[in-house]
Amino acid sequence: MLGLMMDQPLLISDLIRHADRHHGDTEIVSKTVEDGSVHRYTYREAHGRARRLAKALGGLGVQTGDRVATLAWNGYRHFEIYYAVAGSGGVIHTINPRLFPEQIAYIANHAEDRVLCFDINLAPLVEKLAPMLKTVKAYVAMCARAAMPKASIPGLHCYEELLEAQDGRYDWPSFDERTAACLCYTSGTTGNPKGALYSHRSTMLHAYAAALPDALNLSARDVILPVVPMFHVNAWGLPYSCAAMGAKVVFPGQHLDGKSLHTLFEQEGVTMSAGVPTVWLGLLATMKEQKLKFSTLRAVVIGGSAAPPAMIRTFQEEYGVQVLHAWGMTEMSPLGTVCTFKAKHAKWGKEDRYALQNKIGRVLFGVDTRIVDENGKELPRDGKAFGDLQVRGPWIVSGYFKGEGGDPLKKDAAGEAWFPTGDVVTIDPDGYIQITDRSKDVIKSGGEWISSIDLENIAVAHPAVQEAAVIGVRHPKWDERPIVVVVRKAGQELSREDLLKFYEGKIAKWWMPEDVVFVNELPHTATGKLSKLTLRQQMKDYQLPG
Ligand code: AMP
Repeated sequence: MLGLMMDQPLLISDLIRHADRHHGDTEIVSKTVEDGSVHRYTYREAHGRARRLAKALGGLGVQTGDRVATLAWNGYRHFEIYYAVAGSGGVIHTINPRLFPEQIAYIANHAEDRVLCFDINLAPLVEKLAPMLKTVKAYVAMCARAAMPKASIPGLHCYEELLEAQDGRYDWPSFDERTAACLCYTSGTTGNPKGALYSHRSTMLHAYAAALPDALNLSARDVILPVVPMFHVNAWGLPYSCAAMGAKVVFPGQHLDGKSLHTLFEQEGVTMSAGVPTVWLGLLATMKEQKLKFSTLRAVVIGGSAAPPAMIRTFQEEYGVQVLHAWGMTEMSPLGTVCTFKAKHAKWGKEDRYALQNKIGRVLFGVDTRIVDENGKELPRDGKAFGDLQVRGPWIVSGYFKGEGGDPLKKDAAGEAWFPTGDVVTIDPDGYIQITDRSKDVIKSGGEWISSIDLENIAVAHPAVQEAAVIGVRHPKWDERPIVVVVRKAGQELSREDLLKFYEGKIAKWWMPEDVVFVNELPHTATGKLSKLTLRQQMKDYQLPG
């Protein structure tokens, strides 16, 4: 017997309609790309403009299921494109402008993008790309007529003119909630980049789950500044969750340096922000240098790579800002876990609470997990056994766009399908997950695993260390041994011996790095994560001392 409830599809257009109706005067503030000035309007205005854009895209020939790409920073027009494209039945394909042009061309051609919308400071990049893009029929410069780039780009349109030409009479269509809505490509550290294709349903369920108190804890009393780019897994879903909750949103444009961020935090009364550790390193350095404080910020989400323990402490102790350590993947829309406390942790001592915060936390309801050994056998959740983390749930990929890379899922004994994350973890009896490594970064020494993340966390806790990466290098006896590659803080002295001494007493003897290599900078991926793949290539001629 079926239930007698309305069978109403979960559609992204309902988010913006809700925000217009119930939070119509709540602001969306953006630092503009054109001249760095601050643009402000409301959810009501954003909704009106998104509907006009939806109609205009139809005029450009965009049909149901067509991909509309963006090369853009975090701003109000990008937000409108999110809603206009998905709401009208198209698929928004956000592309990272920091990728190499050849990678962008590969992705756009693979996705068969019809239209490409871009921020005007990226016009030189688009001009270079245009001859390589086989399917793009129209380019839209995200600006007013006066700011139109002079670049020679075929089929170029002006965003504001497209909107002005529309009368605003447009009703969002209704369709199956499993319809594709957004497309994001993984960074492709192995093989070609692969497309994760989110549906309206998966995006909506993720938006609900992400807003919950033990997840990102968002409400209509919040002012949220997503530092994480809108081309990095939909800014971790914030443009959707914020509309659902009616939170004020502040978009920083491309100004992500410490000073610009701090100024925006203070001017707009930001209460919560989210980004990768690299961005917070920059902000915290500026804060210290200029003796700044936060007056409204209550929490920051740190994710995308491991939050260094020293960073968690600095935010909480020096600035009174709660850290939410989060973990996820492009393939998971992206949120999987957030580290928040349970009632019993109130009785724990300070150091134990910090130790817990170094873990990536507990899963959001909706994400199921298990850990397996190399034979696929499930391992206990005892906080000790570590193995490959597998996940499943309604906002986790079942395959990649156009079947790229084959079927990624693994079947368990009962025939249930799981997505292998490639992360090596432990899960404790309370459900808290600790990442020890990416499976391809794991260091195996004498048959035992050494956690590169643990060794990096200790290195960055040293006051003279700006950034550190630990990789395994070949060793005739032990197979692999860890070395630590370090960037010193400006003006600080640090020797190999100083750092090795700093490790003493903090790790088992056989985990001790074999060497310390000082460099001026470490390689990063286009999403700001340490690129150990590149680092290993750079270090391929390195020889262990002795
Ligand atoms: P991406 O799909 O590019 O966002 O990369 C996902 C991967 O980033 C995960 O599988 C993890 O290896 C890594 N990652 C994300 N968040 C964290 C975190 N909090 N700690 C450690 N690694 C993380």
